[in-house]
Amino acid sequence: MHFVSSILNADLHCHSVVSDGTLTPEELAARAHANGVELWALTDHDEIGGQQRAMAAARAHGLPYLTGTEISITFAGQTVHIVGLGFDAENESMKQGLRQTRGGRGERAREMAASLAAVGIHGAYEGALTYAGNPELISRTHFARFLVEAGVCRETNEVFRKYLTEGKPGFVPHRWATLRDAIHWISDAGGVAVIAHPARYNFTPTEEYALFSEFKAHGGRGVEVVTGSHSAAEYVRYADMAREFDLAASRGSDFHSPDESHTDLGALPFLPGQLTPVWELLADRIQQ
Ligand code: AMP
Ligand code: MN
Ligand code: MN
Ligand code: MN
Repeated sequence: MHFVSSILNADLHCHSVVSDGTLTPEELAARAHANGVELWALTDHDEIGGQQRAMAAARAHGLPYLTGTEISITFAGQTVHIVGLGFDAENESMKQGLRQTRGGRGERAREMAASLAAVGIHGAYEGALTYAGNPELISRTHFARFLVEAGVCRETNEVFRKYLTEGKPGFVPHRWATLRDAIHWISDAGGVAVIAHPARYNFTPTEEYALFSEFKAHGGRGVEVVTGSHSAAEYVRYADMAREFDLAASRGSDFHSPDESHTDLGALPFLPGQLTPVWELLADRIQQ
């Protein structure tokens, strides 16, 4: 199969139980295959512990695979996500960097639980932990699922709106990795760094320009254009940004769960034209 066309059902962003998804790597591989995905990557948050399973399951379905992760970083006071694709999943400095990034999550979770307790919601740490498939990767999503189960809110979106975002009672600010380190971990392991869902951040135009410029300067090479987090107008806007900054374009659903995600694996429109698809840069890293 050739991977040089924009017309490819690539899905290079999703999450398993190894981070904050609800399906196993094997279930995701089966779902991607059934949905017609032609090139797949599992991109768990700050974690590559699911890569061998994802790769083996993809191979069993004859589904071409790229290694993946989604690294949390702090830039201009906000959390930004950097997707890494096509790296060597055995690379020691990358594993060490991700372990360090995961390290702060336990303490942050306890602080989140304490601030929720202060508004009368008790037992949230223990509750969230029962939803975390990987205790090193306790995330706000696990708190959201617990608060829905506890009847505090009707759905996870509502939990984020009322409790888990900046200025709300359960929000605890956290300093993640640096942009520079995340790009270097990925690039030094032979992969390509990609800015995840750029429309999701609340940057001023100047800050966004700085993000893209610094990302390029540190060796970043791609940006998500078509993602489950973008509107059709945002596909156009970030296609323009990709051309302006000479970045390759990526495509991924950001699928987490059949019950919670509105975009299923493989269910996005194709990349717009006149872009370099990120898989063109990664042709020799695809496992088939
Ligand atoms: P964390 O890495 O612990 O800060 O959790 C971030 C995760 O929370 C993201 O990867 C999403 O899966 C989820 N998330 C963030 N904002 C929302 C939202 N508004 N609604 C539902 N899930 C969200
Ligand atoms: Mn997530
Ligand atoms: Mn993300
Ligand atoms: Mn994601």
